[in-house]
Amino acid sequence: MSRSLTALSGAALAEVQPGRMTAPRSPSGWPALVLNADFRPLSYYPLSIWPWQDVVKAVWQDRVDVVSVYDKVVRSPSMEFQLPSVVSLKTYIDQDRSPAFTRFNVFLRDGFTCQYCGQAGELTFDHVVPRSHGGRTTWENIVAACPPCNLRKGGRTPVQAGMPIRHAPRRPNSWQLQDAGRRFPPDYLHNSWLDYLYWDIELEP
Ligand SMILES: [Zn+2]
Repeated sequence: MSRSLTALSGAALAEVQPGRMTAPRSPSGWPALVLNADFRPLSYYPLSIWPWQDVVKAVWQDRVDVVSVYDKVVRSPSMEFQLPSVVSLKTYIDQDRSPAFTRFNVFLRDGFTCQYCGQAGELTFDHVVPRSHGGRTTWENIVAACPPCNLRKGGRTPVQAGMPIRHAPRRPNSWQLQDAGRRFPPDYLHNSWLDYLYWDIELEP
């Protein structure tokens, strides 16, 4: 999956590009949405999807149930197989694990809003305690910030700059992050995925 997010390093963070939400698009390459055994996506960010080749293998190995299929059929000399668009794991995977410290997950934790002025839109990252003051690149010291706030704060602490933080940055657990994730549409949306992504909001008629 090309859009999976890589972990931040201190050096990488300096050149982080502003975050943008992109419009939903059709999936290419026939990936399948992967649900846990409780029929919730294994993860929201990045959304748990597998390439069709992995899905076919998992079906063959009897590790997943096919929940929904594409129109697309693949053929071998001896068989025909309709590509799954949604599969569910036969064995439940415990979700109680720490979320990866990624750029996207930091934005997600902060609700895609500047933690100084509350604005949405173009965002950068700010070291709350500046690196020049020994501030580290961690969940507890990185917040989303709009470019003007980032510029205004400069190499100062929030107290020095007189810019209080809206929510003190903490390491989220996976449930908190998944909760936040439900508020934002994922990049890839296939019609058959919607039921599994948005069970708790009203669907359009
Ligand atoms: Zn701001």
